[in-house]
Amino acid sequence: MNLPSPTPKWKPRLLTAVGAAALAILVTLSGVTAPLDAWVYDRLVLGAAPDADPRIVVVDIDQKSLAELGRWPWSRRTHAQLVDRLRLTEVKGIAFNVLLSEPALFDPEGDALLARAISRSGRVVLPVLAEPVQLNGSTVELMPIPEFAASAASLGHAEMALDDDGVARSAYLRAGLGSPHWPALALALLQLDQPPGSNGDLPGRRRVTTGLEPASPYDWVRDYEVRVPFTSPPNAFRHVSYTDVLNQRIPATLLRGNWVVVGVSATGMGPLARAPGQPPTTSMSGTDYQANLLNMLIKRAAITPVSEGWQAVLAAVLSALPLLLSLLPVLRRIWRPTVLTMAGTVVLSMLMLRYGHLWFSPVPALLVLALGASLWVYRLLRRTQRQAQSDALTGLANRSRFDHALDQELRIARRSGQPLSLLVMDIDHFKQLNDTQGHAAGDAALKALGRILRSRARRPRDLVARLGGDEFAVLLPETSAQAAATIATTIHVDLAHHGRKPHGATASTPPPFTASVGIHTYLSGDEAGPEDVFDRADAALYRAKQAGRNRSFSHTGEHEAVEVSPHRV
Ligand code: GH3
Ligand code: MG
Repeated sequence: MNLPSPTPKWKPRLLTAVGAAALAILVTLSGVTAPLDAWVYDRLVLGAAPDADPRIVVVDIDQKSLAELGRWPWSRRTHAQLVDRLRLTEVKGIAFNVLLSEPALFDPEGDALLARAISRSGRVVLPVLAEPVQLNGSTVELMPIPEFAASAASLGHAEMALDDDGVARSAYLRAGLGSPHWPALALALLQLDQPPGSNGDLPGRRRVTTGLEPASPYDWVRDYEVRVPFTSPPNAFRHVSYTDVLNQRIPATLLRGNWVVVGVSATGMGPLARAPGQPPTTSMSGTDYQANLLNMLIKRAAITPVSEGWQAVLAAVLSALPLLLSLLPVLRRIWRPTVLTMAGTVVLSMLMLRYGHLWFSPVPALLVLALGASLWVYRLLRRTQRQAQSDALTGLANRSRFDHALDQELRIARRSGQPLSLLVMDIDHFKQLNDTQGHAAGDAALKALGRILRSRARRPRDLVARLGGDEFAVLLPETSAQAAATIATTIHVDLAHHGRKPHGATASTPPPFTASVGIHTYLSGDEAGPEDVFDRADAALYRAKQAGRNRSFSHTGEHEAVEVSPHRV
């Protein structure tokens, strides 16, 4: 059937739309979807992974270097040599991601040599780390010792921002104790040639709102939150061994004019994290994290998370959209706008990520839309089920539903010891009525009988069914033979009244007709099955027809069926 569906009522749809929007806001603000958001983000961001910039070189303090240069920590003289070596190859800048927060106890001259090398280079940035003094205690900034800090071109914080699941997705381009005064190490490197303190066009979500109370001076404050599009794999950069650079085994051309990030990559020596979408076995060193930050900044590929407010507004609009679209004639069937909006939400999120460098999680909106879709499917199934169990002409239960109900009620009657009455009836001379008055009049008669039966069997468990043709049944649980006979009589009376209403009759008014009724009342202790019960009622109906029609015969227990209706009402 492809009948046009009726125009939806706009008021309930509008109300549902408001409810969907409110739910989407609630879901967004509650943060319950965080793990799903992360899962979806990790998959989508892989598709937006940028290439590794060939101008970034990572100098690894790796197993090979440890094997050749001895156990960590190395003499500061070694570092001084490396810095000098890099200076001579005319690198663009060096992020020396090694914590130099304590003076060398037995080699102050080594410290002095390194400080001088750093100063000579003029292009070395050193890391500052935030470290809790004790567990849950206040944080301190671990700075390079003053000699180094004074000779460095700049300082930057080297915090690797990890999510609860141990995955590094974000970075804060500025952070610091009490105020976000340090640029991220990679940013500090990139800003060597820019005037200090220029944040003008820094990407990222602002976390510090100026004008509010200043943060506690003991809190690590972060600002300019970005999501980092890591290269895939996250260590896709050019990597060279510290010892190879030191011993001039690397051609100078490989280093000249490039950004250099020096740091620990040997396992067990530095912090490790997982990059989004990477298997747990591939971990990323803090040095690769900084290299990725630098890559992101050079390529202007930083991803800014949409603020919570906008995320909620967008999710609310998308969740309500199908209901609003369904008011348009072309999209009237709600599943079409729902499927369109779900696909649109995913596409919008992907486009925003890829081309707008914005992260908007599609999950809350998808969740609300999926919930709406499941409710709709549930209602559809219920309706189809109801239709499969009802008669199209009269709207009464059909034969299959009647059979099921008879079976069930008989079981209940057996357990409870209550009587169960069944009325089976058939219109008298219906064929004749059809032939003389037309099929439409016959149909009207069927509907009229349906209405009468429904009005006489009104208890919640009563069931009126059209068994087929002009045959009907009324199942009456917990009803005695006497009560059933009374109901049958009222049905005859109703039909007689109905026949005496010629005034105001229209074409659709059914002609007068009568019906014959067979009743069987099941009493507990009887071993009869549902077929037996039906056959007995049917046999009583046969007797009623034989006795002249327009009457009821009742069959109880082992007795012959007897007439129970006063003749001719
Ligand atoms: P009896 O008193 O012995 O029951 O006589 P009857 O003419 O009613 O005989 P029967 O019950 O066998 O007649 C069934 C007739 O019902 C046959 C058919 O013309 C008519 N009929 C069956 N289904 C429909 C229907 O959906 N609509 C209409 N208008 N007539 C139907
Ligand atoms: Mg009949």
